[in-house]
Amino acid sequence: MQYNSTRDKAINVSSAQAIKQGLSAEGGLFVPESFPSVSMADIDALADKSYHERAYFVLSKFLTDFTDEELNKCISSAYTKEKFETNSIAPVYELNQSVYFLELWHGPTCAFKDMALQILPHLLTTSMKKTNENNEVVILVATSGDTGKAALEGFKDVNGTRIIVFYPDNGVSEIQKRQMVTQEGNNVSVAAVRGNFDDAQNGVKKIFTDDEYKELLDRNHFSLSSANSINWGRLVPQIVYYFSAYADLIKGGKIVCGDKINIVVPTGNFGNILAAYYAKKMGLPVARFICASNENNVLTEFINTGVYDKNRKFHTTISPSMDILISSNLERFLYDLTDNNDALIRDWMTKLNTEGRYEVTPEVKEKLTNLFFADFSDDAETMAAIKATKESFDYVMDTHTAVAKSVYDKYAEKTGDMTKTIIASTASPFKFNQSVLIALEDFNYVAGKDEFTLLSELAQKSGMRIPKSLAELKNKPTIFDTVCDKNEMRQIVSDFLMVD
Ligand SMILES: *Cc1c(COP(=O)(O)O)cnc(C)c1O
Repeated sequence: MQYNSTRDKAINVSSAQAIKQGLSAEGGLFVPESFPSVSMADIDALADKSYHERAYFVLSKFLTDFTDEELNKCISSAYTKEKFETNSIAPVYELNQSVYFLELWHGPTCAFKDMALQILPHLLTTSMKKTNENNEVVILVATSGDTGKAALEGFKDVNGTRIIVFYPDNGVSEIQKRQMVTQEGNNVSVAAVRGNFDDAQNGVKKIFTDDEYKELLDRNHFSLSSANSINWGRLVPQIVYYFSAYADLIKGGKIVCGDKINIVVPTGNFGNILAAYYAKKMGLPVARFICASNENNVLTEFINTGVYDKNRKFHTTISPSMDILISSNLERFLYDLTDNNDALIRDWMTKLNTEGRYEVTPEVKEKLTNLFFADFSDDAETMAAIKATKESFDYVMDTHTAVAKSVYDKYAEKTGDMTKTIIASTASPFKFNQSVLIALEDFNYVAGKDEFTLLSELAQKSGMRIPKSLAELKNKPTIFDTVCDKNEMRQIVSDFLMVD
């Protein structure tokens, strides 16, 4: 299986090359040249398989240049008992006869990005070897919280890699900060940057585009890489859990193989929902996709009108991982909906860059509305969904999952559709404990309480155990206390790598 670029389909590379490179040279994203199809018998057979076997089933169809041994090693290094608090890795929780939560947050950082970031380092180092690249990979990350920690946990102690994460001094929660400054591992570094997320991100971008510096690193046998969400190595592991959830429904006798389901995804960069769409292209029986946004509802408008317009107010919401105005993975979806029309994609992406807006053709718009339902949930509706779901079902959702549930309820009411539905549950409620407790109680209830008190209170109210990785934070020693200015970031990298 070869990979093309969404902005120039003449570009044709192996999966190892696509994963190593991340982004194509002219700015496009790598996509498979065709989609493997799976039979109903194959899907049915997944019911009795482990998560590892299900992962092998999907990944082996895309990463055809990896040997069986290489793939199995990547899979077994990523989805271990030590890192995931459940053997099933991504369990399905039955809310009632039509709604099922696919819990993607049992990994080390309690959010769904672990599903991809635990395996990416192994896919990346294998890809480096396969393409005869002998440099050590240096992952540089600017984070507003979740991605940085998930990347640290994924890359820690992986041979042939180093990782350095910059976070804004005043821009992450107390728990997020503690998660990062207590990070263990022999190849990791963390520093705070004075300023906000944009300062940290601009500093990282500057290092990435500094050719002289990259040459210096190359002379010292280092190559920079970013591990961001447009890397094919982050997307392909996400296809696995949609097959896995479907197989679990068969196994539990909830459906028979071939029955169509709906899938609801709380969406930001459009990565997670795109993986579900790719699963359908391969043959997974899906009736409708429900794209759930928060008040940053650029995707709701796009799916309903065919106009993508990022010229709008940015809202800071209680589902911060979805506070996004440019959904980078949408480009891959558009490439598919236009039957791989790279010229059209170039045109739209140029317009997005220059005018902040583009409009798709009527044919694309029709495909969009046939397959996707889109709506959004504001903070008040999201809070109400958390409270109502706790009261009716004694199940506590995090704020991102609650956006999805709230939008699903709107869909069900509008359409009367009772098709069995999987809702992607993207974070543990403990990770967003303060907002969840405000939803269940009120503002006064949380006032003056620190995050560790809130964790205990949420455990009491929900009857759930505090995830081990969060409970441990309280007593872990601080390892990283560096605070730097934006213009000192390059020096911090040099010190860490001992180059000069
Ligand atoms: C990143 C994230 C999302 C959004 O996922 P995309 O793939 O960017 O659409 C949703 N929920 C949580 C908790 C996240 O961390």
